[in-house]
Amino acid sequence: MTKARQRRLRCTARLKEVMGGHFSALAKASKTGSAPIAWCTSVGPAEILRALGFEVYFPENHGAALGASRMANRVMPRAHAMGYSQEICSYLTSDIGAHLAGVTPLAKAGLESIPKADVLVFSTNQCRDVREWFEYYGREWSVPVLGITAPRSVDQVEQAIVDDVTFQMEALIPPLESIAGTSMDSARLSEVVKLSRECSDLWKRCLQTAQTIPSPLTFFDGTIQMGPAVVLRGSAEATAYYRVLLEELQERVAGGVAAVEGEKYRLFWDGMPIWGKLSDNSTLLAEMKTCVVASTYCNSWIFDALDASDPLPSMARASLELFIARSEGAKQWVLEEMIEAFQVDGLVFHDSRTCPNNSNARYGMPARLQKKTGVPVLVIDGDLNDLRCYSDEQARTNFEGFIEQIADSKAFRSRVES
Ligand code: SF4
Repeated sequence: MTKARQRRLRCTARLKEVMGGHFSALAKASKTGSAPIAWCTSVGPAEILRALGFEVYFPENHGAALGASRMANRVMPRAHAMGYSQEICSYLTSDIGAHLAGVTPLAKAGLESIPKADVLVFSTNQCRDVREWFEYYGREWSVPVLGITAPRSVDQVEQAIVDDVTFQMEALIPPLESIAGTSMDSARLSEVVKLSRECSDLWKRCLQTAQTIPSPLTFFDGTIQMGPAVVLRGSAEATAYYRVLLEELQERVAGGVAAVEGEKYRLFWDGMPIWGKLSDNSTLLAEMKTCVVASTYCNSWIFDALDASDPLPSMARASLELFIARSEGAKQWVLEEMIEAFQVDGLVFHDSRTCPNNSNARYGMPARLQKKTGVPVLVIDGDLNDLRCYSDEQARTNFEGFIEQIADSKAFRSRVES
């Protein structure tokens, strides 16, 4: 197997500065009380919090950092010992375990410990686990836990459910105003929603550059590059960063520069990344001249519905249109569109043991999609953080067999067409 080059993006250095700025602001608020701190789920109502002057902290980002740094498996047993099952979200068990152990990979970014919240705000649009996670800290610190109970498995995003979630968002504002010690300024909320929408549009355009053959971007780059869209949406820093990233990607497209040198095969990744194996998976696939060009995961921070002229209803709609919150039928439709737009040769479904919410291989989707589109599928077992659920040997064998199958079918097609 030849050693293939994966090209690093120039702006990764800048990304570190932007993310560092976010953690410095949290460290300052934590130490000096310069601003109230709100925890928010990754696709929760962050714009309301930012508009009220909270520093916003996203614990799923910490969960991912625990996985990527491979600290997760060392600390999870502490949460398991408290009665949090090994079968529930391993972000949750890693994060609570790290808290109990008094360690964090964010120490490198200047945070001695996770920032203590003044309030924790969840939305169940992605799963139930986030609520249980926040309730733990609510009890631990005796601080309020507020949230939105959103429907899941949504087929059509009907106006009635948009109205329900909008109403729940409105109801969050008075208690949050009282914790923040300020009143909501509707012009400021519109401004934050406008910035969030700009961030979403720019991030979408970055991801869409991967429709080009060869692709200037891989899914593995995307999981790192999406940092500002996750933790800084609604801020000018995030939009400024994605302008720079987009320029670099467009430069690659214009010059025909591939993220994976000699790209021959293009895959789609469904489900969570395997954080502790990101680099291994990326290298393994690059060796096979395979680029993972798109994913449902990186697309989760695209919010086409956001509208500064109608902040709360548009936020509600955006939170309901999320892929993870949709029915099997709606998800299949999205996947079919992506297969075509990104011209993929195969689909990888990561069946993540502790996140059934973001694993789409359990209700027949792979077989249905393969039948309908003719594109081969591979289901791999693993987990976002718990590496006991993942086997290097098995993954290598599966990936190699899958790429061989794709190569054979491409060769056959080209013989038939010539
Ligand atoms: S969606 Fe999955 S990974 Fe994310 S918080 Fe919920 S269970 Fe955990």
